[in-house]
Amino acid sequence: MLVFPRENGTVIDIIPSTGELSDALEVVVYHDRKLNALIAEILPANELEYEGNIGLELVMVDAERGELISTPVLGEFDEDEDGSYLLIDGETFRRWKESGKLNVCPICGGELVWKGREARCLECGYRVKVRDKI
Ligand SMILES: [Zn+2]
Repeated sequence: MLVFPRENGTVIDIIPSTGELSDALEVVVYHDRKLNALIAEILPANELEYEGNIGLELVMVDAERGELISTPVLGEFDEDEDGSYLLIDGETFRRWKESGKLNVCPICGGELVWKGREARCLECGYRVKVRDKI
């Protein structure tokens, strides 16, 4: 893990022990004065393969109240025979549902179609699974 302090924020690079750069993530945390919020962005460190946020909407925390003001979908990536997918817990699913964006793909903004506890994006094929009962 590499930490780079910047003038108004911090960049943290998380590199897997295998040294595989395509699996590395970069977390950028900064204070947005206009919004008076702390913003955390999670990006793949290898931006040649991906564009933009890793899909999980920005994590925005109100700088004064310390409350979450965005609806990030945070989970862990896991793999099965069809490739990798985002695994989230029931609580994250509930918050996501409350945000009204359950059918919006967090990667590309396309249509996410749910079937039980699993979803797949019709446009980019991104998959999400919910670990707990929902
Ligand atoms: Zn998509």
